[in-house]
Amino acid sequence: MKDRITEARPHITRNEGLIFERSSPGKTGAELPPLDVPEISPEEIFGGEYFRQDLEGFPEVSEFEVIQHYTRLSTWNYGIDTGLYPLGSCTMKYNPRVNEFVARLEGLATEHPYTPETLAQGCLRILAETARCLIAITGMDAVSLQPAAGAQGELTGLLMIRAYLNDHGGARKYILIPDSAHGTNPASVTIAGYEVRNLKSNSRGCIDLAALEEEMTPEVAGLMLTNPNTLGIFEEQIREISSLVHARGGLVYMDGANMNALIGVAKPADFGIDVMHLNLHKTFSTPHGGGGPGSGPVAVRKSLEPYLPLPTVEPLAAGGYRLNYDRPKSIGRVRAFFGNFGMAVRALAYILAYGAAGLRQVTEDAVLNANYVRQKLKEAYDLPYDAPAMHECVFSDRRQASHSVRTGDIAKRLIDYGFHPYTVSFPLIVAGAMMIEPTETASKAELDAFIEAMLAIAEEVRTDPEVVRTAPHTARLTRLDEATAARRPVLRWRPATPQLRTQL
Ligand SMILES: *Cc1c(COP(=O)(O)O)cnc(C)c1O
Repeated sequence: MKDRITEARPHITRNEGLIFERSSPGKTGAELPPLDVPEISPEEIFGGEYFRQDLEGFPEVSEFEVIQHYTRLSTWNYGIDTGLYPLGSCTMKYNPRVNEFVARLEGLATEHPYTPETLAQGCLRILAETARCLIAITGMDAVSLQPAAGAQGELTGLLMIRAYLNDHGGARKYILIPDSAHGTNPASVTIAGYEVRNLKSNSRGCIDLAALEEEMTPEVAGLMLTNPNTLGIFEEQIREISSLVHARGGLVYMDGANMNALIGVAKPADFGIDVMHLNLHKTFSTPHGGGGPGSGPVAVRKSLEPYLPLPTVEPLAAGGYRLNYDRPKSIGRVRAFFGNFGMAVRALAYILAYGAAGLRQVTEDAVLNANYVRQKLKEAYDLPYDAPAMHECVFSDRRQASHSVRTGDIAKRLIDYGFHPYTVSFPLIVAGAMMIEPTETASKAELDAFIEAMLAIAEEVRTDPEVVRTAPHTARLTRLDEATAARRPVLRWRPATPQLRTQL
């Protein structure tokens, strides 16, 4: 039986139409008073050829209709401000609003990138101070804030490794990457002109020293690892690992996307890392998702400093800062101007507001929250690597799979319980992976509600698997045909009514 309410299409809660469908000729959002001067058309001044008479299909609507339309659309979004966003590897945490305020201050948000150095001293100081803080946090010797995201930081770091090795006997050919790595790692290696060699993880989900011993040949430029790795496990033998790579003339790159688990507790320089990137949009208060700009600073050891991207911000003996373009060994620019400057402002505001003790607390709370979730869910879900979690934990759908319910089904069922899904099917070394990162900003009440939902779903899988297999049931759209969407995407908008179709 058809639901009468669905039939009648209640106009607020479901499937808001397109703004084009609200259009009717002559409606407008602004009305100007009648002209009290002679009317001149722009064509008379500039000639007609540059002017369109008509903007085809442009919706004609009132101001209020525009406001309603976009406000309703905004309520469709599930965001970090709505509830727990346990997307593992992404560190989707709440970022204090005050950092948004700071980044929008006049003089910061409005400074032109071509402002002469002497008039941009405040902004240069922000860049230098942000770099100084990141150096203190990582223990490295120098930082470039230029890369626009983690992946670009990886490429920048790898190009520096290549340049350094070129100056020290040859660039070599391969980079070793553990099989648990994020997909951007092998992509960056390939773009940097290296070939990827896969390193198998051991039974504890960590790098296998014996395998490394075998693979670390004179043709290998270095090792690219993530620590804690994408299983949320800290590489306990990290010192031995980096010593071995160094002893064979290679360098160690660390993907620092998981720094949310280390800040204030461990410094990558102390465990032998030569070059790494940070994701300001994960760890240091830049909101991400939705396509906002990111920032992936690279931090390096002294030996790699000459290769940093141009320009570097340097203090002047007499006080103040300058931009140094005179760096013959630099790999060059990787991004226009100074990278995404606003992200440095947010990161600095965040770091200074928390201070060293506050940042350590962030790490401890993130780790505590992940271990709480891991402990509460391990009776219901399979834990393929049962080591203490750092900031995230990875389950597998092995038990649920025997009822033909997979990780993607459980994730979709979470939507019905009012949560954003966890990360599905990553890392690839875990079949049916369910990767959960609660972050430090989740309250205990929110975590308990999430745990309760996950336990309820595990029970449903036993008693009524079909309801999980066909979820979500309460969302605006239910199960989509993902294979067809990927294979035959329909990217053109088709007007809903025949009348609009002829009109447009
Ligand atoms: C997010 C992430 C990256 C890539 O960073 P982007 O800023 O998205 O380019 C790389 N490695 C890991 C482990 C990540 O989680």
